[in-house]
Amino acid sequence: MNSRRNFLFKLALSAGAPLVLTSRLCGQAPPPVKLEETDPIAMALGYKEDSTKADATKFPQHKPEMICSGCTLYQGKPGDASGPCAAVGMKIVLAGGWCSVYAKKPDPVK
Ligand code: SF4
Repeated sequence: MNSRRNFLFKLALSAGAPLVLTSRLCGQAPPPVKLEETDPIAMALGYKEDSTKADATKFPQHKPEMICSGCTLYQGKPGDASGPCAAVGMKIVLAGGWCSVYAKKPDPVK
């Protein structure tokens, strides 16, 4: 192994690999990661942590009442401030957020 590759390998081991390996060996999921608005996926989908800040020019279909907690892809529990989203690799989105793949949850059966 050349010295650069050896250095990168050791850096990876010292940085995060032990945490990932430990959690995998213990059968635990890796810690949840928050979706930042600067994340390339978020930028591609027009994700905003605050639905009212969505770009109305770029996304004319957006309405302020469309929020992540009302989206079928949102995996958080009712009342949670945030939760995982299936559209962005289960990263954590804010309940009041929005992105362009929003799909309204069906109304509850009465
Ligand atoms: S897919 Fe739904 S829950 Fe996920 S970020 Fe977009 S609007 Fe929010």
